[in-house]
Amino acid sequence: MQLSQTLKINGHDDKATVSCLKCDHEFGSQTRNWKHTAQLNEEKMNTMGVPYTTGEGVLFRSFSCPECGVLLDTELAIAGDAFLEDKIYV
Ligand SMILES: [Zn+2]
Repeated sequence: MQLSQTLKINGHDDKATVSCLKCDHEFGSQTRNWKHTAQLNEEKMNTMGVPYTTGEGVLFRSFSCPECGVLLDTELAIAGDAFLEDKIYV
């Protein structure tokens, strides 16, 4: 089952794991946010140039696979915010 366009879920229930769709790198249990073991890059939005205009402290987070380097996900946050959680409701 795919979790997103770049991640998949292997197995079922509490024993399921999340992995990279491109290279199969495992990020650990599905019960834990995979972003904690991804490669994180944070940039201040107001330093990224036009067309972005934001206040101080708004960050653009990008999460990449530590094995193959593919971009897995992005999100906006304020410094110190917890990572957004990906959930599938079936
Ligand atoms: Zn990968």
